[in-house]
Amino acid sequence: MVQSNDNHVKVIVHRGTKNIGGCCTEVEYKNTRLAIDFGSPLPEEKTSKLDISGLTNGKSEFDAVLFTHYHGDHVGEAGKINADIPIYMSGFAKDIIAAYKKHNWHCFAEIDPNMVTELKAGKEIEIGALRVLPILSDHSAAESLMFLIKAGNFQILHTGDFRLHGRYREELLDSVKKLGKIDLLITEGTTLSRKEEEKDNYTEERVEAEIKRCLYENDYCFIILSSTNFDRLQGIKNSVNAYRHDKKTKGKYFLIDNFQQSLFEIADKRLPERYKFGKEVSYRSGLDEKMKDRGFIMLIRMGKKQEDIFRKYMKECPERSCLIYSMWSGYMKTGKLKELTDIAHDRNRLRIIHSSGHVTVQDLKDFVDVLAPEHVIVIHTKDTEKFDCLKKQIPIKDGEALEFQTC
Ligand SMILES: [Zn+2]
Repeated sequence: MVQSNDNHVKVIVHRGTKNIGGCCTEVEYKNTRLAIDFGSPLPEEKTSKLDISGLTNGKSEFDAVLFTHYHGDHVGEAGKINADIPIYMSGFAKDIIAAYKKHNWHCFAEIDPNMVTELKAGKEIEIGALRVLPILSDHSAAESLMFLIKAGNFQILHTGDFRLHGRYREELLDSVKKLGKIDLLITEGTTLSRKEEEKDNYTEERVEAEIKRCLYENDYCFIILSSTNFDRLQGIKNSVNAYRHDKKTKGKYFLIDNFQQSLFEIADKRLPERYKFGKEVSYRSGLDEKMKDRGFIMLIRMGKKQEDIFRKYMKECPERSCLIYSMWSGYMKTGKLKELTDIAHDRNRLRIIHSSGHVTVQDLKDFVDVLAPEHVIVIHTKDTEKFDCLKKQIPIKDGEALEFQTC
């Protein structure tokens, strides 16, 4: 391995040039070493265990691990990091992880949220010889962060997962345009290798408009989506509020469960500017008659009572019901999601309304044009080496060390 000296910054992608899930990138400068993200590979990805000397075994040699957001493919293996290495993430990500642990101890079992140092967007921190500025991003996980890492005058922008068709694209573009010269851009490239993701290119506003239309056209709506896609959940909340406003005497229920309510409370506490959920109704059996009378939109959680209710409505009054599927299409090809979406599809009651959390290929090219970085490394994609569609892209393999002169 190449030895670093004071005028060089070293970058190693430990995992992420051949995988979408489980990325981990290292930046080293003047003996300060930090890693960004340490997640789980996606279920379909075959990859060997990620073990890094000084990070997951042996005497600790890393000064910090930074997490961009709370999705499992970015934070899922954080529990393997040596306990004495400080970990950093947004306060919101920390609370979401704590809520999941409380709900189901299997989730994030090895992570102790009490050991997390909270990052605030816009507030620069110093880690040894490096300075890190967290930047609020736009992704399907709320409060996702990009990191501007400064090694002297050398500036690295690590995007984490992001997109430019969500609610906060303008805010994000405004922020990155103020960063000055970017020497190295380390960007996600999910859509470069996952073409079906490209099709989900509605804006989040368009998704909200389509969900609202379903709500007005159907008395009984069921929706399958991630519990932590707060932008999407905010869209549902806005649609329900609009409906209640228009049809004052007969508003609709937004039916959730106690776990979802606990996530809404975290969002209301942590994200007061961006999101407003308040209190909604958790489903209980005594509500059946009122639900039928007033109508509703209900989040379906697998293997629960909601699933039985969905089957009942699809059988008894399909013409007044619909199922909105609002996740990546790859997930509905097998198992329970296939079973449920097939039921709705067979009755012509399935509506697929989704927007990817990942930047489209064209937006990524435009992003590179706007930033005009000196060098680009693509991670969070399959077979980085096969793609060279981005300007200034450098080929890199997992575990390979690249060195850059800082002055
Ligand atoms: Zn993500």
